[in-house]
Amino acid sequence: QPEEVPELPEGVAAHLRGEGIEELYPPQAAAVEAGVTRGESVVASVPTASGKTLVAELAMLSSVARGGKALYIVPLRALASEKKTEFERWEAYGFDVGVSTGNYESDGEWLASRDIVVATSEKVDSLVRNGAAWIDELTCVVADEVHLVDDSHRGPTLEVTLGKLRTLNPGLQVVALSATVGNADVVAEWLDAELVQSDWRPIDLRMGVHYGNAISFDDGTQREVPVGSGGRPTAALVDDALDGDSGGDDKTDDQGSSLVFVNSRRNAEASAKRLRDVTEPHLTDDERGRLAELAAEIREVSDTDTSDTLASCVAKGAAFHHAGLASEHRSLVEDAFRDRLVKCISATPTLAAGVNTPSRRVIVRDWRRYDGEFGGMKPLDVLEIHQMMGRAGRPGLDPYGEAVLLAKDSETRDELFERYIWADPEPVRSKLAAEPALRTHVLATVASGFAHTRSELLEFLDQTLYATQTDESGRLERVTDDVLAYLERNEFIEREDDSLTATSVGHTVSRLYLDPMTAAEIIDGLEWADANRGEMTRALSGAGSTSDPATTRASDATSTPAGAATDPADAGFQRASELTSDASGNDAADDDAADDDAADAEADADAAASADAPTYPTALGLFHLVSRTPDMYQLYLKSGDRETYTEICYEREAELLGRTPSEYEDVRFEEWLSALKTARLLEDWADEVDEDRITERYGVGPGDIRGKVETAEWLLGAAERLAGELDLPVVPVREAKKRVEYGVRDELLTLAGVRGVGRKRARRLYEVGIETRADLREADKSVVLRALRGRRKTAEGILENVGRQDPSMEGVSKADSAATSRP
Ligand code: ADP
Repeated sequence: QPEEVPELPEGVAAHLRGEGIEELYPPQAAAVEAGVTRGESVVASVPTASGKTLVAELAMLSSVARGGKALYIVPLRALASEKKTEFERWEAYGFDVGVSTGNYESDGEWLASRDIVVATSEKVDSLVRNGAAWIDELTCVVADEVHLVDDSHRGPTLEVTLGKLRTLNPGLQVVALSATVGNADVVAEWLDAELVQSDWRPIDLRMGVHYGNAISFDDGTQREVPVGSGGRPTAALVDDALDGDSGGDDKTDDQGSSLVFVNSRRNAEASAKRLRDVTEPHLTDDERGRLAELAAEIREVSDTDTSDTLASCVAKGAAFHHAGLASEHRSLVEDAFRDRLVKCISATPTLAAGVNTPSRRVIVRDWRRYDGEFGGMKPLDVLEIHQMMGRAGRPGLDPYGEAVLLAKDSETRDELFERYIWADPEPVRSKLAAEPALRTHVLATVASGFAHTRSELLEFLDQTLYATQTDESGRLERVTDDVLAYLERNEFIEREDDSLTATSVGHTVSRLYLDPMTAAEIIDGLEWADANRGEMTRALSGAGSTSDPATTRASDATSTPAGAATDPADAGFQRASELTSDASGNDAADDDAADDDAADAEADADAAASADAPTYPTALGLFHLVSRTPDMYQLYLKSGDRETYTEICYEREAELLGRTPSEYEDVRFEEWLSALKTARLLEDWADEVDEDRITERYGVGPGDIRGKVETAEWLLGAAERLAGELDLPVVPVREAKKRVEYGVRDELLTLAGVRGVGRKRARRLYEVGIETRADLREADKSVVLRALRGRRKTAEGILENVGRQDPSMEGVSKADSAATSRP
């Protein structure tokens, strides 16, 4: 019982009891036994939904109660705020909780005052690189979903970060939470931790395969689920669960919900559209009413096709869930599913990772997924399938959970039993020796002073999981030497005999959290622009407007960057130190204040700038440059795209910063075009094209637009810093960054930067003649109110943010505006 854990702070056990946690689950008790509340390191490898979070909480609370400080590392940014909210219930007992997201390059000093900090492994890595002092005070670190060290993209960061934290804090308690994996003992050995391993689950799980007209379960039983004439087993299984009669021992007689896992976003949406016709007839009138309200709420969040489709499904009791959804949409759907209002969710596997949405029945419809590197459909790992299946069964509601795979023929049924139901999950394997990972981490390890010589570097790498696992002697050393050579060639590090030092640019690259290859690409591109500026500027003016006539008004297509130098082409060469002062090292919290004055000064500069010389490099050129780095996930080319973007590529070649690969260099050319497609999305966004049009044009979700925009903002910010450091053009980069940040054209940059304004409102204000911050401070209030569609509160907020003396809208009517709209 929680009361019997003496290390727990006052009140915690009673609080847990209030939440219905009367007894520790057996794996939790085993973790306490192993010393998790006494500062001992523990690896807990237990099935999904068996209470790993509480193990972490017990460790963190007892560590903090002894005067320490705890860090909880989450695998996905989307989970960070969720965990923070979960831990905030401990604030009543004196534990402060903070979450560190956002801006990579800040040392987050304010987090020093928090007892428990939640962050992604990338963020923690970046905090270490930037030397955040409080990192040294950590006494307890939790790594959630530690089996993800196996992930080739993100695993190495978690692996190296844990290594650094342990080096910085000898005696640090590490609590690693893992799904059931094949080699938890190796993970425990790596972390010098006690292993708690268990198959225990709070609710029984039956796994089976549906084939023909029945499910065969692993316990030998069968359940008839006829597919009927429609021939859709998923629909039949969802319908069957909702019928509620699950064969005798069901005490709740509750309608059972279903989670359907599919392999792509498009399939998730298509599946939900079909399944809404299955859920709809099961709804009560009361539920219909509540679902209609929920659908309206979903439409409120955003006005896109995805939003509309989601709302129309939810109105009938079905939903879809994938990483392309806006986060508000995601949580509305998750909550409604837990409240048993939404009866069925069709999801991509992101839902299985970490979100607590148990369901009566889990249907794994797709067990293969397209894999580009593999070149076809590839079966998912046992570990992934088990994590999805583990979401079956709602404790206290269902007699047991059911997880069902689908087979079209009896051979597939037998294969699925072999492959997934009888099989043990794979072992996790370190991916650190992959070159991109090592490139990044070797530079960071040298730059942040963890290693001053090649042998110290190898010594550090020797404590990684990779080193624990590898039996191929010399491989790590070989790859490390290749990487060192690469870093030296690109002038990120210098070597003298055995000693290693990062160059000034190398330090910047590490602190900016860039893959060194990204930095090298950006530097090459900017140098190319510098060398070819004269010729390309002439090419651009000769060709007239270079922008797509469909999305750009020709007259504003080219305007000069802020800075107003006499020779516009020189504007880019102002010393970066003067121009970037507001971007250097501010913590996120201060940004708004620091920006205001700078932006005001720019407003005047803008007004003075001449409008006839083309900007070079152009926004598109810079968008393309950052889109072709390994730090940007590029959009895929779909059928027909190759022709379209080849054409665009030749039309706008003068803007691209580098030599276009020949069409015979197949792979490189294809990548060049994918980057161009991504750059065009960013350009559309920065040209104020509607979100809806963009999602349609590029076949992406609104969440994807946000993702690309945020990545571009980060990379352009990094490019701005690098340009400054290397005396390369700064201003065009900064302009391009601001245009993606706000999603507006040049002329709206200053207005859109006012808090509360945003891209749409800035455009409306501009249309009534309010073009600058100064205009906004002096404008006729009724004109402002009209431009803001009569929203008084919004208008007052905006006027206050822009520093207007008397922002009150009391008594102002949008009808009686002055004849002239100009202030
Ligand atoms: P995991 O992280 O292992 O997937 P969670 O930590 O999300 O699982 O726990 C799943 C659910 O079980 C949560 O709703 C949690 O509140 C509940 N839970 C955890 N421990 C106990 C317990 N000892 N008694 C009752 N419920 C518990």
